[in-house]
Amino acid sequence: GNIFEIQDLHFNYPDGTAALQGLSVSIERNKKIALLGSNGAGKSTFLLHLIGILKPDKGKVIFNGQELKYDRASLINLRNKVGYVFQDPDTQLFSASVWQEVSFGPMNLGLTNEEVENRVIKALLDTGASHLKDRATHFLSYGQKKLISIADILAMNPDMIIFDEPTASLDPKYTHRILDLLNDINERGISIIMATHDVDKAYQWADIIFVMKDGRIAKVGPPEEIFNDE
Ligand code: ADP
Ligand code: ADP
Repeated sequence: GNIFEIQDLHFNYPDGTAALQGLSVSIERNKKIALLGSNGAGKSTFLLHLIGILKPDKGKVIFNGQELKYDRASLINLRNKVGYVFQDPDTQLFSASVWQEVSFGPMNLGLTNEEVENRVIKALLDTGASHLKDRATHFLSYGQKKLISIADILAMNPDMIIFDEPTASLDPKYTHRILDLLNDINERGISIIMATHDVDKAYQWADIIFVMKDGRIAKVGPPEEIFNDE
């Protein structure tokens, strides 16, 4: 079945802003999905519902066939399987050194020290960041921080990774590198959803495009189909 079934989500922020207004969509496994939409369409709000950071006022998030209940155990289970790479790595990275940072998640999974070490080594290798392992997180460049924020998530061996604007603020070299990395990750069977403003990038990269408008998914389809209607 699908990794997520999202049914009729409604969500208002405390100030009354209606950010999601009846959002429904199915998310198939192992796809590269681009979530397009103008600023304020509700992309970030939707993505935060996929890991239960936000709870809908109405509607359902169904993960692996089970409706998400918002108790601690279900949220931990969800977040162990679905990783979220924040747009700004400074909001995600909190450990003093790169090694501590990337080992934090797997350590909390109750793995042995050796297993944790193997996860960290592999995640750093996969992101091309092995040479940064002993560095202080704080002094990395923005692009390096971005790589480490992805290594963090990879070390959890997730089924799906959510990227909010992964190439925002990156130079062309890092942008290219991150998009290649997203392809490598997907080839290993990890589902990816990436929010972006960049229509050209979405067109080149995605298997499926979700177009958001006014807190709903307005269109779903392969890039050729989505852009032929415009
Ligand atoms: P996008 O990611 O597509 O730019 P968002 O999900 O960030 O869209 O925002 C959807 C709507 O919710 C916008 O109108 C935005 O201004 C509003 N919004 C986002 N975050 C907050 C917040 N913390 N408090 C109030 N309104 C918010
Ligand atoms: P959204 O989620 O709708 O893109 P944000 O408020 O998060 O809205 O970001 C607005 C813009 O600011 C983004 O297009 C991004 O390129 C830019 N931006 C975000 N974080 C940074 C940063 N650390 N440095 C420079 N620009 C940034």
